[in-house]
Amino acid sequence: MKTYKIAAIPADGIGPEVIAAGLQALEALARRDGGFELDVTEFDWGSERYKRTGALMPEDGKEQLKNFDAIFFGAVGAPDVPDHVTLWGLRLPICQGFDQYANVRPTRILPGITSPLAGVGPDDLDWVIVRENSEGEYSGVGGRAHRGQAEEVATEVSIFTRVGVERIMRYAFKLAQSRPRKFLTVVTKSNAQRHGMVMWDEIAAEVAKDFPDVTWDKMLVDAMTVRMVKDPASLDTIVATNLHADILSDLAGALAGSLGVAPTGNIDPERRNPSMFEPIHGSAFDITGKGIANPVATFWTASQMLEHLGEMDAAKRLMRAVDKVCSDGVLTPDVGGTATTKDVTEAVCQAIRGENI
Ligand code: NAD
Ligand code: MN
Repeated sequence: MKTYKIAAIPADGIGPEVIAAGLQALEALARRDGGFELDVTEFDWGSERYKRTGALMPEDGKEQLKNFDAIFFGAVGAPDVPDHVTLWGLRLPICQGFDQYANVRPTRILPGITSPLAGVGPDDLDWVIVRENSEGEYSGVGGRAHRGQAEEVATEVSIFTRVGVERIMRYAFKLAQSRPRKFLTVVTKSNAQRHGMVMWDEIAAEVAKDFPDVTWDKMLVDAMTVRMVKDPASLDTIVATNLHADILSDLAGALAGSLGVAPTGNIDPERRNPSMFEPIHGSAFDITGKGIANPVATFWTASQMLEHLGEMDAAKRLMRAVDKVCSDGVLTPDVGGTATTKDVTEAVCQAIRGENI
């Protein structure tokens, strides 16, 4: 039997609540399938550790993670720690340190969940957003001069490399090719940003030649937000920069009903390093400890993790269980229901154990 070593980093806010739910569902799947086991190690990294020790993760954190098969991550961020400290202290060092350059964000409207878009149902919105996850606007390059003075200047430099853009473009075309519609939309802002973004457009056209069966088009990111709202059925696979896709995928999550159902995989396609799976949402201080965090995003990302590990049957079974529970109306308040995290988790585990799932 295969045993997968999973590093769980629940971190802050509702992170521990949804990761506990996700682990319960994974355990139910492992037991039901009998084909694999999970060996889970939990790490107490996050804002509490930062307040205690001055660092969100230990200095050798990457070393500690490198021999795991996958990382299962909750959310990071606390009301009394600046957001740039938490983000750059934990999530980004892992993503960038392990060169998880493809951030993959599937979005569809789950049965039983209502989109805020009138008349838009499950058949009208089924996207995968591919976010460049290693460079671009989040390269961390820049600085501040004359801090606090009237003449202060700050720079936030976007770095785009040919290697970085080409590999994400190739990943996106390949993913588009694997989906029934074989259709990719390349998002940039190449009218205003005339260097890196124009290079994106050029590289898209070059890579497209290797995928003659994929149809593709281009959008400017501002117009893209309109198209997502007005004509969601016209989109399928989408590729965009680190910043643009960050924003578009929050919108996508909201259009699919709630941030609480939006998953993401930070993937190293070459499998040199462990990949990391997490819900898109943050630590949601407003609902922390209330027992009402929606665990669906975490179930979905657990399914992405199983797929990455090669456990296709378990991955599909988990999503069938989630679909069933949502269509049965077992929903948390963010998607219009009255169920708790525990209710949804128990219903999903029960569905996993059921005969017909
Ligand atoms: P957020 O995603 O935490 O919350 C936004 C809104 O969505 C809140 O009203 C929240 O209650 C709701 N929400 C989010 N997840 C939910 C779920 N599973 N179930 C039900 N409702 C849910 O974003 P924010 O409020 O902008 O940020 C809070 C903190 O999280 C900040 O410190 C921010 O930096 C951090 N953050 C971390 C990550 C990450 O770890 N990847 C991502 C985004 C934000
Ligand atoms: Mn984000």
